[in-house]
Amino acid sequence: MRVGIIALQHESNTFAPGLTTLDHFEQGALLSGQAICEAYADSHHEVGGFLAGLADEQIEAVPIFLAWALPGGVVAARTLEKLLARMSDELKAAGELDGLLVAPHGAGVAENAPDMDGAWLRELRSRVSPRLPIVGTLDLHANLTETMVRAANALVAYRTNPHLDQRDRGIEAAKLLSRMLKGKCRPTQAAAYPPLAINIERQNTSSSPCRECYEALGDLMADRRVLSASLMLGFPYADVREMGTSVLVVTDDDPDLARALADDFAEYLRHRRSAFVGQLIEVEAAVAQAARGMTPTCLLDMGDNVGGGAPGDGTVLLKALIDAGVKSAFVCLHDPAAVEAAEKAGKGKNVSLTIGGKGPKEAGAPITSNAKVLGLFDGKFTESEARHGGRTGYSMGRTAVVELPGGQTVMLTTERVAPFSLGQLTSCGLDPKSFKAIVAKGVHAPVAAYKSVCPTMIRVNTPGIATADLSQLNYQRRRKPLFPLEAI
Ligand SMILES: [Zn+2]
Repeated sequence: MRVGIIALQHESNTFAPGLTTLDHFEQGALLSGQAICEAYADSHHEVGGFLAGLADEQIEAVPIFLAWALPGGVVAARTLEKLLARMSDELKAAGELDGLLVAPHGAGVAENAPDMDGAWLRELRSRVSPRLPIVGTLDLHANLTETMVRAANALVAYRTNPHLDQRDRGIEAAKLLSRMLKGKCRPTQAAAYPPLAINIERQNTSSSPCRECYEALGDLMADRRVLSASLMLGFPYADVREMGTSVLVVTDDDPDLARALADDFAEYLRHRRSAFVGQLIEVEAAVAQAARGMTPTCLLDMGDNVGGGAPGDGTVLLKALIDAGVKSAFVCLHDPAAVEAAEKAGKGKNVSLTIGGKGPKEAGAPITSNAKVLGLFDGKFTESEARHGGRTGYSMGRTAVVELPGGQTVMLTTERVAPFSLGQLTSCGLDPKSFKAIVAKGVHAPVAAYKSVCPTMIRVNTPGIATADLSQLNYQRRRKPLFPLEAI
């Protein structure tokens, strides 16, 4: 038996300036055929899980197409057209298939398709036999739609945030497809949409209240009749109709049971709604606590969360650290122009820089300062441990590390990079343990890497397009009501 593998993943922040284009996918991953195996077979990504699961079931894997770009603005219409054309060509060239394993993200938005994942899954479905089994994975931040549910026979979402179970979910999907192909089960799925926008600050699956929710999901899955169950917390930064929390239950040939269990679980979540309201800590309080700390404190810059599509050049926390006189601090900012200026000056030299603050103005103005260039790097590093996103190879583009007169260390990168690996610091000769405060532009994703060096992690309510204060976002399209934005 031959099973095709297709992945197209983008988490689109509809509040972010600029579009995500083909260049961004080329910078991320744009692969076909055997190159997918070479890049992903040993990774912690779900495609690594697909390959491992199929090998285990002695089914031939046919890697077809994989595209991924770092979360950012909405995908350009022309880019989606090109990606779909390439996917379609590669699918044709793949020959006869017995099934497909797919990896959408679930929170992709294109200019011409508010439900980008539903759109490509539907297109894929239309190009194969209606009876061809399609099983896949979803990110825990998916804003699930009925189009996605209808296009696939079964979908399985990650159950951890940070996402450390991507490979396991890929294996789960492959085994489910294998059972289906061998006539051992007939998956049927139903979704439910509780009226909840679970605050990003609450979305850590190893702490309350989400820990208990995933334990309850585990109880649900213990039922023999249930093939899989997913709780998607939702991605609040995509202003689309289905934004918010969803539940998906897959049963063995029992649609009524799938429906009843999904509805029950949605009701369970609705009853717990008050626990999902974000607890927001302001900048001054967070920086003061970091200044008092005896060990490195990680300040999580929620408003400029790169993994949530923010620009990664917000200066609010850097300015607060300078103002508070916290000398031993690390901040990474995306700023190609500042890298160039540092390169021109050269290692060991002093240079006047204007850094960061080119994105949305609420995320902080540029900071103009003298700086000493500590080092210049190619920005490439690898990560072998399981980390959020499941990637092994990282590229920050050309990178400069500079020291400000107040003692703060600032890393400047030419590509946007999410803080998912300590390799970001160590590859540039920096010891994470040596800092009193480390700013990580994320919410939960950085925890997997940073918890080993930062006993204290503070989620800071910084302004920006990924603000945790959802009342600051000007939604036009989302469903209503959604607690706590509306009373229910
Ligand atoms: Zn996610």
